[in-house]
Amino acid sequence: MTDLPTDLTRATAADLADALASKTISSVEVTQAHLDRIAAVDGQVHSYLHVDTDGALAQARAVDERRQAGESLGALAGVPIAVKDVMTTKGVPTTCGSRILEGWIPPYDATVVTKLREAGLPILGKTNMDEFAMGSSTEHSAYGPSHNPWDLDRIPGGSGGGSSSVLASFQAPLATGTDTGGSIRQPAAVTATVGTKPTYGGVSRYGLVALASSLDQAGPCGRTVLDTALLHAVMGGHDPMDSTSIDAPVPPVVEAARAADVRGMRIGVVKELGGEGYQPGVRARFDESVALLEELGAEVVEVSCPNFGYALAAYYLILPSEASSNLAKFDAMRYGLRVLPEGVDAPSAEQVMAATRDAGFGDEVKRRIILGTYALSSGYYDAYYGSAQKVRALIAQDFDAAFGRVDVLVSPTAPTTAFKLGDKLEDPMAMYLNDIATIPANLAGVPGMSIPSGLADEDGLPAGIQILAPATKDERLYSVGAALEKALVDRWGGPILDRAPELGVAAAAKGA
Ligand code: GLN
Repeated sequence: MTDLPTDLTRATAADLADALASKTISSVEVTQAHLDRIAAVDGQVHSYLHVDTDGALAQARAVDERRQAGESLGALAGVPIAVKDVMTTKGVPTTCGSRILEGWIPPYDATVVTKLREAGLPILGKTNMDEFAMGSSTEHSAYGPSHNPWDLDRIPGGSGGGSSSVLASFQAPLATGTDTGGSIRQPAAVTATVGTKPTYGGVSRYGLVALASSLDQAGPCGRTVLDTALLHAVMGGHDPMDSTSIDAPVPPVVEAARAADVRGMRIGVVKELGGEGYQPGVRARFDESVALLEELGAEVVEVSCPNFGYALAAYYLILPSEASSNLAKFDAMRYGLRVLPEGVDAPSAEQVMAATRDAGFGDEVKRRIILGTYALSSGYYDAYYGSAQKVRALIAQDFDAAFGRVDVLVSPTAPTTAFKLGDKLEDPMAMYLNDIATIPANLAGVPGMSIPSGLADEDGLPAGIQILAPATKDERLYSVGAALEKALVDRWGGPILDRAPELGVAAAAKGA
C-alpha cells in the first residue's frame, strides 16, 4: 500500500480508500482535514457555495462506525466529496448558482446524491457554478465567480468551475459535475484535473436541476484517472426514476483505469478540432500526447468529422430551446424566490411571475430564455429548432463513421488555457467558443473525458486532452486516459497539478 502524505488533502481518493479500508485512518480524520483546508483557502478560491460541516462529520462518523462494526463497505466509503450545486441535496441548500433558488432547501436527494450517501461518501458541501449551468467560467454565478488555483485572477472553467477548483486547491479529493456542452471537461482542462462526461443515460438525471434534458449528463471529477473511475462506478447505473437512464451495468471503468493499456487500439485525431483558433501551447501539448500514445502501442490516424463545424450553432439553438421550457417552472408560485411588483396593489400571478423572473434570473439566463422562446415560436420552429435537430443527426453520423474506423477519438479539450476573469464576460460568442471541441459529444450522446496534457509554453498554464468513445464504451476513455496519464507523469516528473503554486494559507487565515 502507498504511504499517505502527512497532509491528507494531498492524497488520492484511491489511496485514502485503501487507508480507510485498512483502518489506518478514519473518515472523521480525512473529512476534518478537508474542512480545515476549506477554512484556510476557500476565502481565496470561492469553490463552495455552502459548506456542510456538521453533515459531513456526521456522515464520516456513521461510516467509521459501520466499518468498526465489520460491515462490508463500498470502495470509496469514508472518502469525502464535493457536490455541484445543480444536484438536489435533502436538507442542504441547492441554488444552482441562481438567486431564484436562494434559500431553497430541497425535500429530496438526487439519485446521484443517494448513491453517494449509500456508498458512504461524506458530502463536504455544494460547489459554485454558472447560473443554471450556463457558462464556461463561473462568472455567471449569482454568488460571484470561483478562481483558478493556478492563478487567482483567472477562470477555473465553467459551469463546473466550483468542482474543478475544489480539486485543484485540494479542498476535496473528489467532486461531481454535470456536462451539457462541456461543463465537466473544460473546467478539468483549465485546472489540470480529470473529468468524465459519461454516455448519455449512463448516470441518472433524477434530481438534477435540468438545463437541456437531451444534453445534460452528470459525471465524476477527480485528480487522477483511477479516482475518477472509482467515482464513476459509484454514480453510474440504471435508475427507474429517469426514463432515459440506460438499463445496463456500469461499463468496467475501474478495471480499464487499472489496466491502463492502449496497445493495439486505434486512435483517431479529429481533423476539425485543432489548428486555427487553438492556442499554440495547447496544440503542442496535444501533439506531444498523441506521440506518447503512439509510443505506448496505439495506432494513430487522422479522422475527419465534417459536420462538427456546425455543432456550436446547433447547440445554441437546441440548448436555449430546452432551457426556456425547463426554466418555466421558476414561476414564483411553487418554490424559491417571490418578488412582488412595485406600485401594484393587487398584482396578478403573471405580474408576480414577471417581477420574480426579472429579479431572480441573471443576464445570461434571460438571454437564453429569449433565444429559446424565439427559436421555438411557430413560424420559426422549422427554420431554427428543426434545422438544428437535423445538424445534430449529421454530427451523430460523423461519430458513427469515425467509430467505424477507430476505437476512440482525441482532440484538445478547450482551445485555450484559462483566460482572465472579466475577459469574455461582455462577449457571449467568445465565451461560447470555449466549448467548440466538447459540444459534439453532448449532441451525439457519446462519452468524453479530459485529462491534463501539460502546461502551455507561452503562459505556463494547464492544457487538456479530450478522449471520446462510442456510446456505452466509457471504459475506453479510462484505458486511454490512464495509459497517457502514466506517460505524462513520467514526462513531467510527477502529476502536472503538483506544479500549481501554493495558495497563501496564512494570508487567507489573516484575511478571514
Ligand atoms: N459552457 C456551455 C454552456 O454555456 C456548457 C454548459 C454545460 O455544460 N452545462 O452552455
